[in-house]
Amino acid sequence: MRYEQHLSFAQRMDQQDPLRSYRQQFYFPQHDGQDCIYLCGNSLGLQPRSVEPALLAELEHWRTHGVEGHFKGEMPWMYYHKFLQEQSATVVGVQPDEVVVMNTLTTNLHLMMVSFYRPTAERYKIIVEGGAFPSDQYAVESQVRFHGYAPEDAIVEVHPRPGEKTLRTEDIIATIEREGEQCALVMFGGVNYFTGQFFDLPAITEAGHKVGAQVGFDLAHTAGNLPLQLHDWNVDFAVWCSYKYLNSGPGGPSGAFVHERHGNNPDLPRFAGWWGHDESQRFLMKKGFIPMQGAAGWQLSNAQILSMAAHKASLDIFQAAGMAALREKSLLLTGYLEFLLQQSGKNFELITPKDSVQRGCQLSLLTDDSGRQLFDYLTKHGVMADWREDNLYGKMAGVIRVAPVPLYNSFEDVYRFVELLKSA
Ligand SMILES: *Cc1c(COP(=O)(O)O)cnc(C)c1O
Repeated sequence: MRYEQHLSFAQRMDQQDPLRSYRQQFYFPQHDGQDCIYLCGNSLGLQPRSVEPALLAELEHWRTHGVEGHFKGEMPWMYYHKFLQEQSATVVGVQPDEVVVMNTLTTNLHLMMVSFYRPTAERYKIIVEGGAFPSDQYAVESQVRFHGYAPEDAIVEVHPRPGEKTLRTEDIIATIEREGEQCALVMFGGVNYFTGQFFDLPAITEAGHKVGAQVGFDLAHTAGNLPLQLHDWNVDFAVWCSYKYLNSGPGGPSGAFVHERHGNNPDLPRFAGWWGHDESQRFLMKKGFIPMQGAAGWQLSNAQILSMAAHKASLDIFQAAGMAALREKSLLLTGYLEFLLQQSGKNFELITPKDSVQRGCQLSLLTDDSGRQLFDYLTKHGVMADWREDNLYGKMAGVIRVAPVPLYNSFEDVYRFVELLKSA
């Protein structure tokens, strides 16, 4: 693609965009009576217009049927998780039985580690990306302590080489090979929330399995951002949230993937609850846990209907748009952002990989001391992006994260953003 620096080019790209109509399906926050330039879908996705009617329908169902709503209507609450399985499965590339929507992300990460981090005196280490999202760090640290190990010893972080900002796959694999038989679990983000780097998940999975470890991913910044094939890649488990790229609203429910070879193993240890119990016997209220087949066997509680209804409305949109088409637009859109940023003459460094295979839609701009001022200027002029301070590189760095999402952002959004940046 030969990008051009004019507004007319951006507008032409928008006219030719086969996904352009999806923008109309979302509410944009307003700034001075206009849609703001929303580049924050990696943090909280915008509200689909279809969410409100979906919520109202469930309220109506409750009002009309009371407790019988569990069994009545088109989507009885008793089976609610099933109505989200197929679409969630398409988003992350798995079989419907391998996925379940439940709880929230960090909770599910713990539930998965209960089953897949089973340390022994010889094999007890967890390999993680350095600078992982704090919640993941705390989850891993507390799991390690829970089993009686010392985090300094049991958690092995992979860091960028001196002078580099992102990880090399060869270094990740070398670390896994070095820890070898001591490695119990490899737990990585799919896309690092800070740098926007998309890791080579199949290669990491293969390397982990070679040394006899389990391999799981936190896909908070990956699900709905990049096409995945978790089943074929043989990943053991994965978790993600639905309120970032998947637009299900604040605190929206999490998805969990358990590969079928584990999901159909009733002997795999887990923390259980009645909603994971064999459906045909659930209301017999008997002793003795019999897990449901598949990921559904990890459910604890009855479904959070309202937040799952919002999530379902959003998944319907993903189903209609398709991950392949979204990725195709995303490559163009983020490529355009990169092109304009490089021409902008502004003083920052793009720390997201230049190779589009190693990133989704987000670009992270590492700024100098004036970064905060720049960010505030953008905010004042109607840009919603994200500011992070971090001492990841040994000094306080300010990073502006911008994520043009293909579902509702336009080429004109990207153009107008960079124009504002240049005027700062
Ligand atoms: C957003 C995010 C979280 C948030 O966890 P919640 O349990 O949903 O609050 C955790 N981990 C990663 C990698 C994230 O990006």
